[in-house]
Amino acid sequence: RVTTPKYRRIVLKISGEALAGDHGFGIDPAVIRNIARQITEVAQLHVQIAVVVGAGNIWRGAAGSQMGMDRATADYMGMLATVMNALALQDALEKMGVATRVQSSIHMSEVAEPYIRRRAIRHLEKGRVVIFAGGTGNPFFSTDTTAALRAAEIEAEVILMAKNGVDGVYTADPQKDPTATKYSELDFMQVLNEGLGVMDSTAASLCMDNDIPLLVFALNEEGNIRRAVLGEKIGTIVGK
Ligand code: UDP
Repeated sequence: RVTTPKYRRIVLKISGEALAGDHGFGIDPAVIRNIARQITEVAQLHVQIAVVVGAGNIWRGAAGSQMGMDRATADYMGMLATVMNALALQDALEKMGVATRVQSSIHMSEVAEPYIRRRAIRHLEKGRVVIFAGGTGNPFFSTDTTAALRAAEIEAEVILMAKNGVDGVYTADPQKDPTATKYSELDFMQVLNEGLGVMDSTAASLCMDNDIPLLVFALNEEGNIRRAVLGEKIGTIVGK
């Protein structure tokens, strides 16, 4: 069995939705512990881990804008919500003995460090898990785009996109179309052209332009983050 990690530095994207478990809203403590356990396993392999958290379990800008709010205001609320998720994940990781730092793109000095690229890299080199909160700090973007941006900045070798309830990229939504089949690999141009719902087009183009591969896999299968890091054939790999 392989125990040499394929990657030295990764960005792990955890959507807000994944944190809600079956509740669909809020944070499920069992789920967050499971994620923290999986991250701990990977940290023990001496892989440098940066985590980008979403906030769909609490608030999405698009929902606020449908309610008649300004999109930008609603998006800032979404960015604030990612900070709550980041703190919850930090708490779970630290309870397992993993040193972590939360860095937020939106200044919130009482609860998180500001995002400082070189400092983030230093934390990673010291073996701390860095959790990036606050998205990119800009409205009209997503936390998927944040994952692509931070991966480029810190020179991560891959983005691991851990999904809730789906184990890769399919030709169509497998929950709606029983004939949908899973891709084992594809390229970002296909994601863009075929409108595959892996990530938004801003995020996909950023990955494509900066040559950052993306591995999409199921989060709810215990040990999957470790498998992904070891380079086992799971999920769908999206490349150039
Ligand atoms: N958001 C934003 N700019 C960013 C990242 C996030 O405005 O750079 C807002 C946006 O409103 C989004 C919300 O934060 O709907 C939550 O992020 P996202 O939808 O990406 O979370 P996920 O789908 O991963 O749970």
